[in-house]
Amino acid sequence: VKASFSIVQDEEETFTGLITVISDVTEQEKVERERREFVSNVSHELRTPLTTMRSYLEALTDGAWEDKNLAPQFLEVTQNETERMIRLVNDLLQLSKMDHKESGMNVVQIDIIQLVNHILDRFEMNKLEHIGIRRKIPREEILVWIDPDKITQVIDNIMSNAIKYSPEGGKITLQVAKERNRIKISIQDQGLGIAREKVDKIFDRFYRVDKARSRELGGTGLGLAISKEIVEAHHGHIWASSIEGQGTTIYFTLPLVVRKRGGRS
Ligand code: ADP
Repeated sequence: VKASFSIVQDEEETFTGLITVISDVTEQEKVERERREFVSNVSHELRTPLTTMRSYLEALTDGAWEDKNLAPQFLEVTQNETERMIRLVNDLLQLSKMDHKESGMNVVQIDIIQLVNHILDRFEMNKLEHIGIRRKIPREEILVWIDPDKITQVIDNIMSNAIKYSPEGGKITLQVAKERNRIKISIQDQGLGIAREKVDKIFDRFYRVDKARSRELGGTGLGLAISKEIVEAHHGHIWASSIEGQGTTIYFTLPLVVRKRGGRS
């Protein structure tokens, strides 16, 4: 807490009062600390692929380019690292747009059931022999006002994580439940799970339970942070529940009732 005092005087400069302003600087400091952490994280995330690329390019320059076995391998590494940086920068740009509320949402009325089924069909097409997808989805039509591309991105993110962290032969269950004034979508996996004290942190920018593993699987650590921004831009909520060693469920909601602006429909 910061307190500042000002003395109030009348025209004859006699003391007539004292104004005390007490402001809560903890919030300001928190924002500033988060900003610093974010910049430091971004720098770190970019430096890692860059230094890897530099070593491999140096090795190539020093003669590895002539080695028919090594050269393609080294080039592949630099290519993968480049791809990672592109993904990271794209994610950062999207977060920055959402921060400035210029997310460019294209909201339309659409049947969420059809959208979800369509997304799952696509996942099933992409050879997932080692994982089964179970659908608990109502057969009715449920209309919602959403940006379909953005909600597709949320489901893609959560599904990709569920697949990434699932064991061989694991099942992923996607459930859509209609509640009183909202739709609740949950995606449950039978993967390694997340320790209780870490569950809520997975929606933070750059937070990963296992940094090395996430990197190995090509993650940027921003997927769930972006998903959270998108869901909240739709006036929904997103959260997770998990049991270590048993699996994780990610839930998110979307309102069924349209929020009217200005009171006119
Ligand atoms: P990443 O690119 O690392 O996957 P995300 O923002 O998508 O970034 O997820 C953040 C972290 O949350 C992951 O690194 C992982 O540790 C954890 N996580 C997310 N989904 C799951 C899941 N289904 N099972 C276990 N851990 C998960």
